[in-house]
Amino acid sequence: MKKVVIIGAGESGTGAALLAKKQGFDVFLTDKSGIKENYKEALLLANIDFEEGQHDEKRVLEADLVIKSPGVPDKVELIKKVQEKGIQIIGEIEFASRYSSVPTIGITGSNGKTTTTLLTHHLLHSAGVKVEMGGNIGKSYAELVSNEATDLQWYVLELSSFQLDGIENYTPDIAMLLNITPDHLDRYEYKFENYIASKFGILRGKAEQRLFIYNGGDENVMDYFSTNFAKKWAYDPDFQNQPYEVKKELYESGTFNIPGWKSFTFDLSKTSLKGQHNFFNAYCAVVAALNTGLVTPQQIQIGLETFKNAPHRLEAVATINGIEYINDSKATNVDSVFYALGAMTKPTILILGGVDKGNDYSPLDDLIKAKVKAIVCMGIDNEKIKTHYGQYGFPILESESAAEAVQKSSDLAKAGDVVLLSPACASFDLFKNYEDRGDQFKQCVLDNLII
Ligand code: ADP
Repeated sequence: MKKVVIIGAGESGTGAALLAKKQGFDVFLTDKSGIKENYKEALLLANIDFEEGQHDEKRVLEADLVIKSPGVPDKVELIKKVQEKGIQIIGEIEFASRYSSVPTIGITGSNGKTTTTLLTHHLLHSAGVKVEMGGNIGKSYAELVSNEATDLQWYVLELSSFQLDGIENYTPDIAMLLNITPDHLDRYEYKFENYIASKFGILRGKAEQRLFIYNGGDENVMDYFSTNFAKKWAYDPDFQNQPYEVKKELYESGTFNIPGWKSFTFDLSKTSLKGQHNFFNAYCAVVAALNTGLVTPQQIQIGLETFKNAPHRLEAVATINGIEYINDSKATNVDSVFYALGAMTKPTILILGGVDKGNDYSPLDDLIKAKVKAIVCMGIDNEKIKTHYGQYGFPILESESAAEAVQKSSDLAKAGDVVLLSPACASFDLFKNYEDRGDQFKQCVLDNLII
C-alpha cells in the first residue's frame, strides 16, 4: 500500500488525510504544534494515524508522497529533507484535484477573494446548479472531494497564494485573478515579484480549455501577464486558453452587458454590492457563472439581488437618527479602506486605527479630503494617524474601545452622515481579531438603538 504523509493538520491537512484514507492509502498525519479538537475527532473517526507536537522524521521520509499544508513554509527543515530525498511533495489542492472530474472555478487575488467566491457560488446555487464551495473558505477542497455527490456539477474554490504554490497539474476550468498588492512577503523572500509569480500559479497546470478572467486595471497583473503569458496565448497551440480582460469601463457604471449575452443588461443598483471594487467582483462572478453554461442572465440578476455578503465587509449595520453605520472591520490594510471610502456617497466619520503594519496612508489623502469630516482613532497608539491628518482641519479624536469610538462618532455625526469603521489596521491591540472588532462595533451601534 502506498504511503502518504501529510504535514500540518489544519483544514487542508485534515481534509487531505480524509481523502487519502478514502482512496485506500496508508495515511499518516504529523503536526509540529497541537491539533484542534474537531480535527482530531475527524481523524480518529476515520481511523487515521496522526501525531502532534513533533515530527517522526524517519516515518515522514519513508513516504511515497508528501502533502504539505499551505501554512507550512518551504524553508522548514523537514520539508528540505523530503525534497533532498526526492519524495514527491504537493499541496492539498493538487491532491484533491486528482480524484475529481467535476469542473472548478478557482478564484485568487490579494483582496476580494471571499466576496467573489461567495457571490459566484450564490449565483449558481440560487439558480439551482449543484455546486459546492470551499478551499481557503469553509471546507477544504479535499474534504469536499472525499464526500462528492454523484450529481455535483461545479466547485467554486477560493485559492490563496500558499495553496497555489502546492499546485503541479491542477488548473481551474474557469480561473480568476482579481488583483495583486504586496502581501505575505515574508513567505516570498521579501520579493514582490515572487508573490506575483505565485498568484499566477493559478495558470500553472496545462489546460485543454480554460477561461482566465483577470483585472485589466491592475498594473501588476497586466505586466506579468503580458510578459509571461500573452505571447504563449497567441503562439502555443496546446495552450488553448481564453483570456478575458476585465477593464474598468466595462463595470464602472454598475450596469453592464456581457459579450455573448448582449441583449441582457445586468444592473447592480438593486443589490447590496456597493463601490467600484464590488462592481468589479460582481462582473467577474457574472462572467464565470454565465460560462458554466448552466444559468441564464435572468437567474443571475435575481441572484445578484438576493446576495448577502459575509459580515464585516462594508456591512450596513443600522441607520439611527438619520446616521448610517457601516462595519468594514475586514479592512485591515490601506488598499481596502481606499475602496471603502470610494464607495461612500455621504459625509463620513471614519473610524481608523489599530495595529499598523507599516502603513503608508497617503493613497487615502484625496479621498479623505473629499469625503471625511472627522476621524475617530481606535487604537492604543494613534500618533501616526494624528500626525498624518493633523493639518486637514477636521476633528481627530481618540478612543480605546468600540463603545467609546461609537459614542464619539455619534456625537460628531448629523442626520445624513455615515459612520464608517474601516480601520486599515489589524485589531490585536484592543480585540481578539477583526471579527471581534466588527461584532463589538455592531453591538455598540445596536445598543444605541435600544436607548
Ligand atoms: P479576501 O478574501 O481576499 O481577503 P474579502 O472579500 O474578504 O477578500 O475582502 C477583504 C477586503 O478587501 C474588504 O475590506 C473589501 O472591502 C476589500 N475588497 C473586496 N474586493 C476588493 C477588490 N476587488 N479590490 C480591492 N479591495 C477589495
